Amino acid sequence: MNRLANLYATALDLLYPRACAHCGGVPDTTRFLCWDCLAEVEYVQPPFCAQCGDPVPGHIDHEYICGFCTRQTPAFDQARSAVRYRGPVGVSLRAIKYEAATWLLPEMATWLSACMRTHYDTLPIDAACYVPLHPVKRRERGFNQAAWLAQALARERGWPVLRGALKRIRDVGSQTRLTATERLANVAGVFQVAQPRRVAGQRLLLIDDVMTTGATVSECARVLKSAGAASVHVLTVARG
Ligand SMILES: [Zn+2]
Ligand SMILES: [Zn+2]
Repeated sequence: MNRLANLYATALDLLYPRACAHCGGVPDTTRFLCWDCLAEVEYVQPPFCAQCGDPVPGHIDHEYICGFCTRQTPAFDQARSAVRYRGPVGVSLRAIKYEAATWLLPEMATWLSACMRTHYDTLPIDAACYVPLHPVKRRERGFNQAAWLAQALARERGWPVLRGALKRIRDVGSQTRLTATERLANVAGVFQVAQPRRVAGQRLLLIDDVMTTGATVSECARVLKSAGAASVHVLTVARG
């Protein structure tokens, strides 16, 4: 069966030559980014804010909380991300979102899983959940990349995924041009817990593809906690 699968993969490669998602070069047969572009990927390295995980340059050897978290404590317990949203990572995540390049999702899941092992390996988690899309957008896109990533990690770790427990009741559009404070106001009231009984008392891992200021995941965590979630830790592939 494996040989048949390999034969099939080789045949597919002959029909549709695999190209690096970033530079168009030739990647290793099992990947969709070439080695040069993989080498360009910037991993999120310490030091970073103990709460939101935002990296800071320089050397800090005490526990550090960033100015943003000090001014407005996020509703999530902690957030960690695998890689910076730059170069090949940004290109790949945008290709997934806007061109339905779903074949790039396993590459993203590998980073997410490594980040889980690095930062949250001993953290007790009862269930995974994800940042939902508005139902209209979910239908247009045909998939939710955050749900796919949550499913992949949950399968590996043996957690249930709380599908449909968290709902987006309003679409806020792109937040890229908004400041951190504007984003917080923009996402207020956007999410709702549809099934509070599935959330109550649960230690949750909230998954998304990208985190920038953390306004979206913080708002999700806020409603999850009002519905009784015991804790909400955030894990994202990329950090803006
Ligand atoms: Zn490349
Ligand atoms: Zn912070």
